[in-house]
Amino acid sequence: MASGIRAILRVAVDVGLPQLCASCREPVGSDGLCPACWSKLSFIAPPYCERLGIPFAYDPGPGILSMEAIADPPAYRRARAAVRFDEVAGTLVHALKYGDRLDLAPMMGRWMATAGHSLTDEADAIIPVPLHWRRYWARRFNQSALLAEAIAKASQVPLALGALKRAKATPQQVGLSQSARALNVQGAFRVSPSGKAAVAGRRLILVDDVITTGATVDACARALLRAGAAEVNVLAFARVVAAARPPI
Ligand SMILES: [Zn+2]
Repeated sequence: MASGIRAILRVAVDVGLPQLCASCREPVGSDGLCPACWSKLSFIAPPYCERLGIPFAYDPGPGILSMEAIADPPAYRRARAAVRFDEVAGTLVHALKYGDRLDLAPMMGRWMATAGHSLTDEADAIIPVPLHWRRYWARRFNQSALLAEAIAKASQVPLALGALKRAKATPQQVGLSQSARALNVQGAFRVSPSGKAAVAGRRLILVDDVITTGATVDACARALLRAGAAEVNVLAFARVVAAARPPI
């Protein structure tokens, strides 16, 4: 009864108030971001590293890889992200992650589907980076799963929810160095016995909100490949990019 009333009130509130820009809180139409904040986002477009999707300052020609991809090749084959991680992108990620603005997921997911169309064209299933069940229980949703759902809808590639599990409740990666991040997530993920069929022999897209060093998605990709995945690619909303760089 009480929850029914709350649901009705929530609908009334949704209808009565204009949507606010997730970044500057100005009223907007149907989107979650006003045109001014939208124009501040840096959408990632070619030229970029074929492997990691890191943008290049100039076009070095087809197939050229970034220094990172050569020095420390990841377990996954390719990574793509919709935008560079900056102030506005960070606001969107934060608003989604902490549950203030779950309504942003369809918009963010559509941008990701566009950025990753070369991945979705060849994929059998989409898998979100999982939360540990305790964190999921406290938060009630997984932001990566919401993004994965939106990408699945836009690309018509099926979701494989629950195939990958977080076996270890790892501390947040924020503030850790690159090597500490890798150590933190080592062995943290595994494919559930019931998830094996969804993974073995399949070309998968792993979905996360942000790629920082890539340690989390790399640990996930290792677990999926150990379970027999044919290929793992990564699609993120935002990627942390150091200052504009020339290719090697
Ligand atoms: Zn705005």
